[in-house]
Amino acid sequence: MINIRFYGELKKYNNNIPFASLKKEKKIMISDIMNIFKIPLKECHLILLNGDSVYPAIELNDNDFVSFFPKFKNIDISPIQILNLSGLIDTHSHLDEFENISETLKIAKEFGVDKIVGVGSDYNSNLKLIDLIKKDFPLKIFIALGIHPNNLNKDIEKGIEIIKENIDKIIGIGECGLDYKYKGFNKDLQKDVFSRQIEIAREYKKPIIVHSRGAWEDCFDMLSSFDVEKANFHWFSGDIDILKRIIDRGFFISATPALKFSKPHKDAIKFAPLERILVETDSPVKYFERPSEPKDVIITIKHLSILKDEPVDKVIEITNKNAKEFFGF
Ligand SMILES: [Zn+2]
Repeated sequence: MINIRFYGELKKYNNNIPFASLKKEKKIMISDIMNIFKIPLKECHLILLNGDSVYPAIELNDNDFVSFFPKFKNIDISPIQILNLSGLIDTHSHLDEFENISETLKIAKEFGVDKIVGVGSDYNSNLKLIDLIKKDFPLKIFIALGIHPNNLNKDIEKGIEIIKENIDKIIGIGECGLDYKYKGFNKDLQKDVFSRQIEIAREYKKPIIVHSRGAWEDCFDMLSSFDVEKANFHWFSGDIDILKRIIDRGFFISATPALKFSKPHKDAIKFAPLERILVETDSPVKYFERPSEPKDVIITIKHLSILKDEPVDKVIEITNKNAKEFFGF
């Protein structure tokens, strides 16, 4: 019997079964799986669990299930066990932007997510996040507060104040940084607001979550000149030259589900050692025609696993260790 943990659009297809057991050994046809789940497989993320290791399904449009897993052709896959994936960490989600946060978090928990870092982007979003951690949820919510470089229209002073006032409740500063690809951006203002947040991070010894689109070098130079200890270049897609400096400096970069299609992001994540990578969703960003959610961190993990040619459980173990080192939770 092969047990397969199924990740897919459960609600969309009215299928509420996250696990299924296929009563065949070794060779399972796609049609068998389709019959069980009654779904188009391109929409799914199948993960094969083999003993202590979990491997991602690489392609979902083949006829022969086993051929998805070329690695398994020469090994015994009969003592397959269910490994209940848990302890996943989404290190970057805009939780304040979800309409039904209770439902979103409930689903995330069902998909094995145990911790989420909610990141702020302006005064109002920071306020909402502070409110959020007063409530009880089935998983642990941590928050970072910050002012995003593309949200500098109003309430900057209030936004900075609220970070300082709640410094004991937060595990990081961000999302903040520079964005030179944002239409009509004001470089001086971005640098000013970013530097004020870097100062807070340094003063209170908090890790900083950096948005650096098109401004990777300036972000790195500013962080270095302030002698910041811990920084994560979130969703890094910059040049390898700057990435080398980021890694040498002991900073992190984070991976998102964009690993599936973004070449610059993929190149960067391929280059960086797994020990310097955090996993996240940046939800509710749309990657695949629908808003993402914290549960989609498994998509990031899956593609990271493929890119690094390491089993999923090892990717989870190392990136969890990284998140704990970075945030100190
Ligand atoms: Zn973000």
